[in-house]
Amino acid sequence: MKFAISVIALALVAAGIALAAAPAPAVGKGTSQVIEKIVKTDAEWKKLLTPEQYNVLREHGTERAFTSPLNHEKHKGVFVCAACGLTLFSSDTKFDSGTGWPSFWAPIDPTHIGTTSDKSFFMTRTEVHCARCGGHLGHVFPDGPKPTGLRYCMNGVSLKFEPAQ
Ligand code: FE
Repeated sequence: MKFAISVIALALVAAGIALAAAPAPAVGKGTSQVIEKIVKTDAEWKKLLTPEQYNVLREHGTERAFTSPLNHEKHKGVFVCAACGLTLFSSDTKFDSGTGWPSFWAPIDPTHIGTTSDKSFFMTRTEVHCARCGGHLGHVFPDGPKPTGLRYCMNGVSLKFEPAQ
């Protein structure tokens, strides 16, 4: 009986150590953190966004190619959602796709974006949106560079660039 109790005690201590040693999830490392959603009415978004941002982010519009200053952004930093500020892409994954839209081969964290199947314009494309506010960002295509082979074709108006400190 004494033995059984000490085994249980030992197991409890071991479990306590395991819990204490578990590292906190690191943001931006592909952890499966839960993103708390931001929900606003159309009227609320209209107040917060410019007409161009509203058209793309809330109405799935597309900015004209080669119009975003972010096409030429080559500094180190992060691209955040223009509507809610969630970090979406790193300059480390940006590449020149020649399409006229800012392009990346991976999101900064897979949990920061969501995708849906978009069957508009007689094509099937994969739509990409912000996981927190649902804002439309662009599309992802399977013709990108290594290592992922993906091309996240983003509307620059949906993004804001924050240079690295
Ligand atoms: Fe957002």
